Amino acid sequence: MVILSNYGWNHFHQENFSAHTNQELSVGRVVSIKGFKYVVLSEQGESEAELSGKLLYGAAPEELPKVGDWVLFKSYDSIAYLIEVLPRMNELSRKTPGRQTSKQLLATNIDFALVIQGLDNDFNLMRLNRYLVQLAVCRITPIVILNKADLVANPEEYRNEVLRLKHDCPIYLCSTRTGLGMEELKNSVLQKHFTYILIGSSGVGKSSLLNMLLNNDTQKTGNTSDSTGKGKHTTTSRELFLLPNGSLMIDTPGMREFGLTAEEGQESEISFPALQEFAAHCRYSDCKHIDETGCGVLEALQSGQLEAYIYESYLKLSKEQRRFEVKAEDKKRLGKQFGKMTKEANAYRKKYKY
Ligand code: GDP
Ligand code: ZN
Repeated sequence: MVILSNYGWNHFHQENFSAHTNQELSVGRVVSIKGFKYVVLSEQGESEAELSGKLLYGAAPEELPKVGDWVLFKSYDSIAYLIEVLPRMNELSRKTPGRQTSKQLLATNIDFALVIQGLDNDFNLMRLNRYLVQLAVCRITPIVILNKADLVANPEEYRNEVLRLKHDCPIYLCSTRTGLGMEELKNSVLQKHFTYILIGSSGVGKSSLLNMLLNNDTQKTGNTSDSTGKGKHTTTSRELFLLPNGSLMIDTPGMREFGLTAEEGQESEISFPALQEFAAHCRYSDCKHIDETGCGVLEALQSGQLEAYIYESYLKLSKEQRRFEVKAEDKKRLGKQFGKMTKEANAYRKKYKY
């Protein structure tokens, strides 16, 4: 039998499950999604899963199961039908590429995000800042990994650059090629029963890192939960891995774009800590630090205390967030009208039973 706490089941999920009225349903975690084919891991082991009609026809896109979700299901003929998604601890989202209004959920129930950059041509402080800002919006704690440290003469310089962003997060120098930092990751950074997600553009070394952490034995890990023999063998490549050290890792396909979303009412200082000490001196508490009189951030910029590139990054990213917010407002208004139409249609359907 699979022990769910090994897969991240905790008090939060247990409480939500206990509060649920239908106790006959089984519970499991989504470990892989390929199109409409899901793989769920439960006490019975791993099984193929599909959406039940309730989710397929009644759920908004963001309510559909994502990798990392805990779901309630019922099995028929070795297929698990997913009926409900349990409340999430958090959601990692980004702006849907190519669209201005919608956000796309990438994964859920994440304890820490491993943000990876390579110390080759990929290293880009502003891109790293973009990841960190979005993680702050999603309230997910970041851990920065600077990989390919073997390629530069003085990797510490890069760590210092990241420190200038003032995000409160640990920074590790690694090399999957020489093995630098790997033991530390395995033995002290990645904790048992916690869920991590790997993010970073393609080519930074995510697969290499995952292989190192899996001791190059992906197959073995993928199969442990199949040992009960229940459920069909799945050929789908999984996205949530149980590592030999007991921690859980979600691997996402390379993300070329990582557009920002925004949460209503969230202070920008949360996402831009480098501005925080200066913003404390702004005359207006809702200062946007653009052209306001008595702006502590602009003063710091003029006196050279705040570096120009950090301020520019703030301007660019906060503009992007505001654009998303404004568009999302429009969409909400439209959504309300649409919601009313759906309600009417549902009432009609009930009345005439179709
Ligand atoms: P992914 O796209 O993020 O999964 O990146 P990969 O793991 O596929 O790695 C991309 C390339 O970078 C491959 O050619 C790896 O051999 C190389 N690479 C990965 N880690 C390191 C490293 O620590 N040092 C060096 N020099 N190359 C690395
Ligand atoms: Zn200001």
